[in-house]
Amino acid sequence: MKLTEGMHPETVAIHAGQEPDPTTGAIMTPIYQTSTYVQQGPGVHKGFEYARSRNPTRDALEANLAALEGGPHGLSFSSGCGAMTTLMMLFSHGDHFIVCDDVYGGTYRLFSKIFERMGFTFTYVDMTDPQNVVKAITPKTKLIWMESPTNPLLKLIDIKKVVQIAADNSRAGQKIKTLVDNTFMSPILQQPLKMGADFVLESTTKYIGGHSDVIGGFVACKSAEDHDALKFNQKSIGATPGPFDCFLTMRGTKTLPARMARHCENAQKIAEWLEKHPQIERVSYPGLKSHPQHELARHQMSGFGGMITFVVKGGLPTAKRVLEKVKIFACAESLGGVESLIEHPAIMTHASIPAEMRAKTGIVDGLIRVSVGIEHVDDLIRDLDQALR
Ligand SMILES: *Cc1c(COP(=O)(O)O)cnc(C)c1O
Repeated sequence: MKLTEGMHPETVAIHAGQEPDPTTGAIMTPIYQTSTYVQQGPGVHKGFEYARSRNPTRDALEANLAALEGGPHGLSFSSGCGAMTTLMMLFSHGDHFIVCDDVYGGTYRLFSKIFERMGFTFTYVDMTDPQNVVKAITPKTKLIWMESPTNPLLKLIDIKKVVQIAADNSRAGQKIKTLVDNTFMSPILQQPLKMGADFVLESTTKYIGGHSDVIGGFVACKSAEDHDALKFNQKSIGATPGPFDCFLTMRGTKTLPARMARHCENAQKIAEWLEKHPQIERVSYPGLKSHPQHELARHQMSGFGGMITFVVKGGLPTAKRVLEKVKIFACAESLGGVESLIEHPAIMTHASIPAEMRAKTGIVDGLIRVSVGIEHVDDLIRDLDQALR
């Protein structure tokens, strides 16, 4: 369907990139489960040669997600990590990267254990103060890597300010690009390309897929040049998603706006309830007035998301007990699915971050992270209440 300017995300999510199947009229994009395509003669084909380079199901997903991000170009990958790896391969030995300090654990592992070995250098800074980014810039800096809100502490980064810093410090021969890992927000709640970022990256495994049944990644970018380079890498490196994964992800995007609205509504109520609970030391949720960057959240995001972190009184033993006692919340890594999840960052998702760095960034032993699902909020509150008792 031809989208017109000004259509709302709810409409874009359902229609962008989606055409009835030309041979049958099937309303849903088929799963083109094929590795190759028959050519009429050598080099004479319909634009599809080999499925690592292109697949119609993947095309439909890429067009759909790019439209949601508000960017002209987008590429899908077999996982968020596959997307990160393919993107980092745009850079070269000796390049320097500035990364927000409580970055996703898997990102930190990829950078510190693999890319450092390849001669990339990284500086991790607290980007809640954008001046820390300025201080970290070197003549070799090529990319600033942001996550907002950060994981798990839900600190915010002023994306527009950091984009401005990158522009102010770019010069002939050294363009500093910016990337936002937007996984915690999805394009429904935050659109970094519109704030000037060069790249937006999503682990579609989370909110975009939304049903905890598929792993995937996505990158959208503004410039055709970046897109072409990344597309070349996508085809050359081969971290591409299979057609069934693309189909499942697309099934998710259709309900993404509706789900995000419910995630936000439920999380707001739970965060407010937790804040008053006597067993809780502190709660971090961008939608709370007590969040130190609540004002920024109101301007930068169109909703506060479904992730909450809180610290229980009593440290590790209490935190462990809460995770064992919940009945509806499932104790599991990951986030963004329709079902509510609960996890312990220091033991689970962030275990690959060294203990000193965890302590420095505030990932304490009593810290619990929840991914609020779209169940009835009263049931979720009752479940947390009995577990906290
Ligand atoms: C899960 C996640 C990733 C990695 O994505 P995978 O699909 O698991 O490879 C990257 N960034 C963030 C913020 C994530 O939550």
